[in-house]
Amino acid sequence: MKELTGIFIKLKNNQSGAVLVITAAALVGMVGMMAMVVDIGALTLEKSRLQNACDAAALAAAWELPDTFSARQKAQDYLNMNGVDITETTISFNTENTKVTVEATRSVDFKFAPILGMNDGTAKAKAIAAYGSISGMTGVVPFGIPDQVMTFGVEYQLKAGSQDDYGPGNYGPLALELRGADSYLNNLKHGYSGTISVGDWIDTEPGNMSGPTYDGITYRINSCTHSPKCSIDSYHTDCPMVMIVPIYDPTLLAGRSQVKVVGFAAFLLKGVDGSGNDSRVSGCFLEMVPPDGLEFTINPNQEDYGLRTARLISESS
Ligand SMILES: [Zn+2]
Repeated sequence: MKELTGIFIKLKNNQSGAVLVITAAALVGMVGMMAMVVDIGALTLEKSRLQNACDAAALAAAWELPDTFSARQKAQDYLNMNGVDITETTISFNTENTKVTVEATRSVDFKFAPILGMNDGTAKAKAIAAYGSISGMTGVVPFGIPDQVMTFGVEYQLKAGSQDDYGPGNYGPLALELRGADSYLNNLKHGYSGTISVGDWIDTEPGNMSGPTYDGITYRINSCTHSPKCSIDSYHTDCPMVMIVPIYDPTLLAGRSQVKVVGFAAFLLKGVDGSGNDSRVSGCFLEMVPPDGLEFTINPNQEDYGLRTARLISESS
């Protein structure tokens, strides 16, 4: 019996020891959970605040490039406005001064994690923005115009008539993806849904395409619902009367049924004239940011044809 009691006590001691161990483990687990929820949550929130501030600062600064003095000032203004101290940030530029990088670092004190031996964490954010001309775009019209010296606000020919073609059988129409009048008319009315990029070789659409040209241009002009109707004095960049036209290298045209795209320019439709198989299209050369609703890429090294903007880019761009 004595022996039995001894075993019982031993067992009881062991049990309470196990309970203690389990309680301590549960407590550490709970603190760990709290640390996860509260401290990591706070760190994530701070990182997202910093990221928003860096994004806004980089984007605002990019518009000032290549003037790095103004760009730095602009970035600092936006960081201040978003509650980020200048001592928490670094602002840098690439060697060509076409990209700005804004980085921010902030230490966040932990509330629960110190029990686990972690006193604080670091929230970091980085944003890169570039300023450049459009190097690829959706929504272009199926015209190609030869690279030439152009002046903003001046009227240029976007599609040739029978007397002023760009070469034998080439009046300017392009075959974007598909040849033929149906595809041409659809692309002219609505813009090509795919992306055309600088360096692409595009088939020319043989022939004058007079009928579909007239229909497509009339459709665009009638689709301007602005009042007063868009003109060079006052226009909306997302109006159907504004067309994005690929520009090609005329020196590579000889003897080819393809053109090489070297850039993109925006034109405000002036109108279509001529009759029969002789429809000419003209428009005024615009300087603007890309219209809303179109996808595009920019490249700081891209030759400028008036269509340019600033945007946030990824590290590898
Ligand atoms: Zn309009």
